[in-house]
Amino acid sequence: MFGTKKPLWGPQPEQKKHYDAVLIGGGLHNLATAYYLAKEHGMTNVAVVEKRFIGFGGAGRNTAIVRANQRTQENVPLYKDALDLWPQLTKELDFNLMFNNCGNVNLMHSEAAMKAARMNVSTAQFLGVESHVLDAKQTKELVPALNLSQDITHPIHGSMYHPPGGIVRHDAVVWGLAKGAAKLGVDILQQTEAQGISTRQGKVTGVDTSRGHISTPKVMVSAGGYSAGIISHLLGLKLPISVLTIQAMVTQPLKPLLNHVVSSGAYHVYCNQTLKGEIATGAHMDPWPNYTTQVTARYIKHQAEALTEFLPCLRGVKFMRAWGGLADMTPDMAPIMDGNDPLDGFFMNCGWGYFGFKSSTATGRYMAEYMATGECPQRLRPFTFRRYEQHKLMGETAALVNYTPDN
Ligand SMILES: Cc1cc2nc3c(=O)[nH]c(=O)nc-3n(C[C@H](O)[C@H](O)[C@H](O)COP(=O)(O)OP(=O)(O)OC[C@H]3O[C@@H](n4cnc5c(N)ncnc54)[C@H](O)[C@@H]3O)c2cc1C
Repeated sequence: MFGTKKPLWGPQPEQKKHYDAVLIGGGLHNLATAYYLAKEHGMTNVAVVEKRFIGFGGAGRNTAIVRANQRTQENVPLYKDALDLWPQLTKELDFNLMFNNCGNVNLMHSEAAMKAARMNVSTAQFLGVESHVLDAKQTKELVPALNLSQDITHPIHGSMYHPPGGIVRHDAVVWGLAKGAAKLGVDILQQTEAQGISTRQGKVTGVDTSRGHISTPKVMVSAGGYSAGIISHLLGLKLPISVLTIQAMVTQPLKPLLNHVVSSGAYHVYCNQTLKGEIATGAHMDPWPNYTTQVTARYIKHQAEALTEFLPCLRGVKFMRAWGGLADMTPDMAPIMDGNDPLDGFFMNCGWGYFGFKSSTATGRYMAEYMATGECPQRLRPFTFRRYEQHKLMGETAALVNYTPDN
C-alpha cells in the first residue's frame, strides 16, 4: 500500500541543465520563496535542491510556535505579515495548515521583567499587534493549571499575553508549500546536494549538485543551520553566525489542560498542548556551538524540573519522544536577508535561530520579490549582512525571552 503512495509534490523530476533560479535547502523559507516566485512573479523554471528530504532541517523539527510580539520596529511588522498569512495560505494551498491561534502567554518572574513586558507590549501595540500585560491573577484565569505559589524557584508575577499567536502544524506547512510550488512548475529535487556555486566576473553562473551542473543566474542559500557553512565553504564569505543544538520533546497524550502556548524565560522553558493532547516543550540551546542533533539526559531532566514547578499537574507524566535540531544564531538575534552582494545573483536568507518557522511564509514572499525584481523590499532592508560591519545591530537581544549564543 505505501509503495503506491505518491508525494503531494509529485514524483522526483529530472534535474534540468538550466534554471532561472536555484534555491539551496528544502526547508520552509525556500519552499515559500519557490511558491511565491511561481505564483506572484511567473518564475516557474525554478529548482529547490535538498540534500536529504524536504523538512529534514528545522522545518520538520520545530515546536510550531508562531507569534508577532517581537521587540523591535524592524522585526514586529515582518512577523505580523507572517501571522496574517496563515489563514490565507490554508485556503490558497487547499491544504489544512492547522493554524490554532490559541495565544501566547509569556510568564514574568520579577517586577523588572514586568516593566520590560510593559515596554514590549507598548511596542507591539504601537505597531498594530495585539498584546497585553496581565497580573498573576489574570494569568491564572487564562492558565488555571499554573502554580502561583511563592515557594518555587521563580514565583510568577504576571505575564505578557499575545492573543493572535499560537501554533501551526509545521510539517503541513512543508508539504502544503511543496505541493503548491510543484503544481506551478517548480522542481523539488530531493537527495540532491549543492556542492559548488560557480561565478564569473562578480556574477553567479551556476550550481554544482550531486546530480551534475546547473547553469543559473540566481542562487539563494537558505539552509537553516547549514547556511553559514555552505556560504563560507562555497563562496568564502564568513557570516557572524554560531550554530547550536536546540532540543525539544513531547509527553504522553493528556486530557486538555493547556489552551495557550506558555513560556518562561527565567525557567528557560516553553510548552503547549498539541491537538493530539501531548505537551510539546522546548527551550534552551546547548551552551556550545556544534552540529549534533542528539538529545541529552541533562536537558530532559531540566525540562521535567522546570515544567513541573510552574505546572505541578505534570508531575509523573512521561516524555515519549525527544529530538534535536540546529539553531543558526546571529549576535543580534535577528536574521540575515540579503541579495546581489557580494555577487550579482547571490541571495541569502539565514540566521533564523530558533524563530524561523513563524516568519517563513512572509520572508519567502519578500525574498521571491527580491529575487524576481532585483529590488530589495523595504521590509527586508534593515536585515542586510552589512549591518554588522556598520555597527547597526538590531535590538532583538533586549527581548524578554532571549537566549543568545553566549548564555
Ligand atoms: C527544536 C527546534 C524548535 C524550534 N521551534 C521553533 C518554533 O517554535 N517557532 C519558530 O518560529 N521556529 C522554531 N525553530 C526554528 C525553525 O525551525 C528554523 O528557524 C527554520 O526551520 C529554518 O528554516 P529554513 O528553511 O531556513 O531551514 P531548514 O528547515 O533547517 O532546512 C534546511 C535544509 O537545507 C538542507 N541542506 C543542508 N545542506 C545542503 C546542501 N549542501 N544542499 C542542499 N540542501 C542542503 C538540509 O538538509 C535541510 O533540509 C525551532 C528549531 C528547532 C531545531
